[in-house]
Amino acid sequence: HADGNASDYFISYNDLDIHRLMLKDRPRTLAYRNFFEANRELVKDKVVLDVGAGTGILSLFAAIAGAKKVYAVEASDVASLCKEIVEENELDKIIEVIHGTVEDIHLDTKVDLIVSEWMGFYLLHESMLDSVIVARDRFLSPGGIMAPSHAVIYFAPVDMSKHFQDRADEWSNIYGFDFSPVASAINRQEVGQPLVECLSPDVLRSEPKELLSLDLKTVTKEDVRKFTVGLEFHIPQETKIHGFACWFDVIFSGGAVSGGKGSPGGVTGGPQIVHVDEKGDARCQDSPSSSLDTTENSTPPIGANSPAAPGVVLLKTGPRDSPTHWKQTVIFLPHTIAVGSGTDLCCHVTMAQDTQINKRHYNITVALTDSADLEEEEEEGDSEEEG
Ligand code: SAH
Repeated sequence: HADGNASDYFISYNDLDIHRLMLKDRPRTLAYRNFFEANRELVKDKVVLDVGAGTGILSLFAAIAGAKKVYAVEASDVASLCKEIVEENELDKIIEVIHGTVEDIHLDTKVDLIVSEWMGFYLLHESMLDSVIVARDRFLSPGGIMAPSHAVIYFAPVDMSKHFQDRADEWSNIYGFDFSPVASAINRQEVGQPLVECLSPDVLRSEPKELLSLDLKTVTKEDVRKFTVGLEFHIPQETKIHGFACWFDVIFSGGAVSGGKGSPGGVTGGPQIVHVDEKGDARCQDSPSSSLDTTENSTPPIGANSPAAPGVVLLKTGPRDSPTHWKQTVIFLPHTIAVGSGTDLCCHVTMAQDTQINKRHYNITVALTDSADLEEEEEEGDSEEEG
């Protein structure tokens, strides 16, 4: 089942709690709405494909923004609910719901814009990007737009002392007994599997570095199947390092940022980018709002009044940003390391799709190296070949 048992994957999306969680994730959902609101002229009278429409929210945004036709493609049984929602909102003349996988469906026409919320934990979990790439190659007309258009994965060393201290405290007194062996057992289990948690920015021990930068117009399945990157982190203060945190940003540039293969600067080197941040949202809430209604108290269309970045919208999921359901992912080292102030901490990070058992999962490897190693390999330019 190296394809990750496709039907299990789609069955998991029959769970309406997942759709509720996504709809209630306001930074996520508003980024898409802001993109459509700020780019009406791009969308007007255009044909849009929504890859993995779920309940149809992105298709509804596209239709309201003036799309002539929206294909809402959804593989799970939620497709029938999506159809009802579209009818309930009287947009069934514009939005056509198709129950099927984007790999299998047929469309009569090419599309001008592909919108999709394909991102998983640490960006690539679920490997839904593969399906978006297939959709692009099959259906996007030349000059068409991808929304989002770019994605960046970030990586940074973290000191998780507080996390371990909180756990030690929790188990230190259970009805008057010392249960600290439980804390130790949980600590041992935790190493070797990633922790998905909303981190405080205080745990970061160095400035985050880009692990991967993708242009959605040109990325190939091969680009994300497996890659190794050498990173160097300057650690200003003496600290313990328990592992590395990983998260991502995506950018909706409309037509504003041009990038492409060989221009990874397409993201950072593009026009000034406007953040979608809901100021005032408390950190680390699983349910930032009890209401699904976003009509009140919502942010204006970001980018609409920014001459530097007309229509450019950014969705950020780091420890310094408003919390999202993606939180951050921590990869623990097998042993805590002590690092002196002024040290340059070097590592090789490999992310590889698990092609043996479930391609929707990734194996993430972090190998600490010394800085001399890293410099040598950069000169040779062979970091791709690292196992
Ligand atoms: N667009 C919705 C749902 C996003 S979740 C929203 O923003 O709220 C991703 C959805 O894509 C899931 O409902 C999943 O079933 C669907 N999906 C994933 N891969 C797909 C594929 N290859 N073809 C069709 N739908 C797919």
